[in-house]
Amino acid sequence: MVSRVIPVDDFDLVIFGATGDLARRKILPGLFRRFVAGQIPETSQIIGAARTAQDDAAFQADVRAAIVEFGKVDKKSPDLDRFLMLLHYVSIDAKGEGGWKELKAKMRKGAIHAFYFSVAPSLFGDLAERLAAHGMAHGDARIVVEKPFGRDLASARALNATLRKHFDEHQIYRIDHYLGKETVQNLMAVRFANILFEPLWNAQYVDHVQITVAETVGVGGRGSYYDNSGAIRDMVQNHMMQLLCLIAMEPPYHFDPDAVRDEKLKVIRALEPVEATEIVRGQYQANGDEGSYLTHAENPDSRTESYVAMKVRISNWRWQGTPFYLRTGKRLRARTSEIAVVFKEPPHSIFEDAHTSGEPKANELVIRLQPNEGMNLKVMIKEPGPGGMRLVQVPLDMTFADALGPEGADMPDAYERLIMDVIRGNQTLFMRGDEIEASWAWTDPIIQAWDDGKARPEPYDPGSSGPDEALGLMHRDGRRWREIRS
Ligand code: NAP
Repeated sequence: MVSRVIPVDDFDLVIFGATGDLARRKILPGLFRRFVAGQIPETSQIIGAARTAQDDAAFQADVRAAIVEFGKVDKKSPDLDRFLMLLHYVSIDAKGEGGWKELKAKMRKGAIHAFYFSVAPSLFGDLAERLAAHGMAHGDARIVVEKPFGRDLASARALNATLRKHFDEHQIYRIDHYLGKETVQNLMAVRFANILFEPLWNAQYVDHVQITVAETVGVGGRGSYYDNSGAIRDMVQNHMMQLLCLIAMEPPYHFDPDAVRDEKLKVIRALEPVEATEIVRGQYQANGDEGSYLTHAENPDSRTESYVAMKVRISNWRWQGTPFYLRTGKRLRARTSEIAVVFKEPPHSIFEDAHTSGEPKANELVIRLQPNEGMNLKVMIKEPGPGGMRLVQVPLDMTFADALGPEGADMPDAYERLIMDVIRGNQTLFMRGDEIEASWAWTDPIIQAWDDGKARPEPYDPGSSGPDEALGLMHRDGRRWREIRS
């Protein structure tokens, strides 16, 4: 199967923070790949902007090095030479006046104008203000903003208000790169383009849902940044909330940005407050020479969680009685992100003696986001051979890379896809301001209760599945977590 590449319209994309880590590791290598795929017109311009004083040639040399290193591209690639011709640079301080006129002069009439704010959120307001002051916040311009989008409801509201002073909601693209993953979109296709799953997608047939985002790395060099945030702000409030919404939402009337986001918002608003007994926080311990969370955070008294697990309930007709279990953490056994929809067992089994002992009997739809994006559906079949009627559970594998052949193996990464959506003006995979605020409104009381209490996070061993208390969260309900494995 050959995937179709539809070129986007001619554009001028300004990357504020073009000399930073995100631009060098993700945005620029991603743009290069889209260029090689033939999706970016050769007339387009990619304009880097940051305080560093340098000319176009120095910027192009740095981008070449970044693409070679992070995009794993041969430095002599002729495509790279062609791509670098699209690149320009303007030295700009978000808080200063220099460089803005030069930038304005580079923006071409008739091209799509997009501004990627790949800088600290504290600079978003300055950038928006100066773009407006210099006549670049016109009605068709787009801005792209990165996480973190606030650290609580009040700061998220303030940030939304700042951006909306100069840009309408339809011009603001809040990136959550989880939404750019192939599998996440496929989840919507599987749910809403097939008759097979949707009739079963409710509390009558789904026993529970597990969402796991596990990392093997610790907080490393980002210790002091992370210590101000913790797993709930870094992962749950944004990425995991988005995944939960896509699983739980009602079918939108159309695959249209506002229709999809309206349905996600309804899910967030239907979330019940989480009981203190149904949430577990953890902090990883030291392991040999590898320091503990407290050492990495350089804060011996820190009560910030590097792990969190919780049971979430959605108060609506579809999900009454079906819990969603969420867990995420650092320094765990394996790096994996997955969603498992665990169905109920058949109401009556005619094969009572035929199950191989210990085998789960329920169907499970497992959606893997990383590694090896794909889905598999676990079904019971008869164990092949003449050994009588014995049942085994086997996965029906829907690994896209295999199904789509060589084209599928070369799927665009989340950033590439999302940037192309910005140029196309499609906001479906971007978070709307009210979604983010609703998500913080649900998260704030959890964090507040932790801040008010005296309890410390539970210790857990690096390389484990997290604190024992998190296992208890499931066991109490007669369920168990899926094994964390890559
Ligand atoms: P970074 O490596 O610290 O880069 C910051 C960039 O901003 C640099 O290019 C810097 O260049 C520029 N900058 C700083 N002050 C400026 C000013 N006053 N005016 C204009 N430019 C200024 O940060 P990053 O990791 O790339 O992160 C950028 C944003 O993405 C942050 O909001 C971060 O939270 C978010 N994010 C990053 C990642 C990631 O993987 N890195 C992931 C998710 C979200 P000069 O010093 O030359 O000005």
